[in-house]
Amino acid sequence: MIDIAIIGGGPAGLSAAVNALARGKNPRIFSNKENYLSKSERIDNHLGFYNISGKDLMKKFIDHTKSMNIEVEKNKVVNILPFDESFMVNVNGEIVEAKKVILAMGISKVKEVPGEARLLGSGVSYCATCDGMLYRNKIAVVWDQSHDAVEEANFLQSIGVNVIFISKKPKSQELNSDIQFISGTIDEIIGEIKVEGIVVDNNTINADAVFILREVVAPTALIDGLSIENGFICVDKNMETNIKGVYAAGDITGKPLQISKAVSEGLIAAQHAAQEIDKA
Ligand SMILES: Cc1cc2nc3c(=O)[nH]c(=O)nc-3n(C[C@H](O)[C@H](O)[C@H](O)COP(=O)(O)OP(=O)(O)OC[C@H]3O[C@@H](n4cnc5c(N)ncnc54)[C@H](O)[C@@H]3O)c2cc1C
Repeated sequence: MIDIAIIGGGPAGLSAAVNALARGKNPRIFSNKENYLSKSERIDNHLGFYNISGKDLMKKFIDHTKSMNIEVEKNKVVNILPFDESFMVNVNGEIVEAKKVILAMGISKVKEVPGEARLLGSGVSYCATCDGMLYRNKIAVVWDQSHDAVEEANFLQSIGVNVIFISKKPKSQELNSDIQFISGTIDEIIGEIKVEGIVVDNNTINADAVFILREVVAPTALIDGLSIENGFICVDKNMETNIKGVYAAGDITGKPLQISKAVSEGLIAAQHAAQEIDKA
C-alpha cells in the first residue's frame, strides 16, 4: 500500500508530491495529459519567476519533482473506492491501494449527459480495460471523446464485445472495419436499473453498456458522495473534503484559479495527510 495517491500532475499535484516526500511519505502521482498551464504564453505573477512561459515553468516544476525521484505516471484515474481505512484507486485498470488521496485534477469541464450519473456502474463505464469483459457477446457503445477512444473500441471488439462507435469526428482509418460507426453525439442514456440504450439525434439505439471515454472524469463520478458547491470541491482549512482521508487542491477547489494558490494548497493537503498517517 502506498501512503498518498495524487490525481493530477499540475502545480497542485506536483507541489503535493514534493511535500509528501519531504514529510517522509511515499506518494504516487497520476496525470493523463498536459495541463492548461503549458498553454500560457507568459506568466508574471508566480513569485520568483518573472516573464516565463507556462511551458518553461511546468518544465521547472517537473524537473524539481524528477530530482526528488518522483515520476508523474501518465495515466487516467477512473474511479476511487473507499475501502476500510484506505482507498482503492483505479488507474485505468490497475488498482492502487493508498492511505490518503489528493485530488488535484484542475477545473472540470465535464458536462454529463442525462442518465449518465444514474446508470454509472450499471452499464455506464469510464474504463474499457476495467469493465470490458462484463460485456462479451453484448452490445457496447463507445463514445469518442478522447485520443485513445479508437484504441479502446478496438480492444473491446477484440475481446468479443459488439461495439458501436459514436463520434463527431470523421471515421478513423484505425477503427476496426467490423465496428459499426455512427456519426453524432449522445443526447441521453436510457434504462431503468441498467443501460438499455442511448439516444443519438432523436434515434434510440439499443445497447447494454456505454463506455464514455473522456480525457477527464467529473470529480463526483470519480468518488461517490463528494461535496461540491458551484462546481468546485468543498474543503476545510486542511484541504480535506467531506470524505475523511480525501483531500483536494488547486483549481478544483475554486477561485482564484492561479498557480500560487494551487501550489500552496498542494502543500497544505500533503502536510496534513502526512500528519494523519503519522498519527495512525
Ligand atoms: C492560458 C492560460 C494562462 C494562464 N496564466 C496564468 C498566469 O499567468 N498566472 C497564474 O497564476 N495562473 C495562470 N493560469 C492558471 C493556472 O494554469 C492554473 O491555476 C493551474 O494550472 C492550476 O493547477 P492545478 O494543479 O490545480 O490544475 P491543472 O494545472 O489543470 O492540472 C490538473 C492535471 O490533472 C490531470 N487530470 C485531470 N483529471 C484526471 C484524472 N481523472 N486522472 C489523471 N489525471 C487527471 C489533467 O490532465 C491535468 O494535467 C493560466 C491558465 C491558462 C489556461
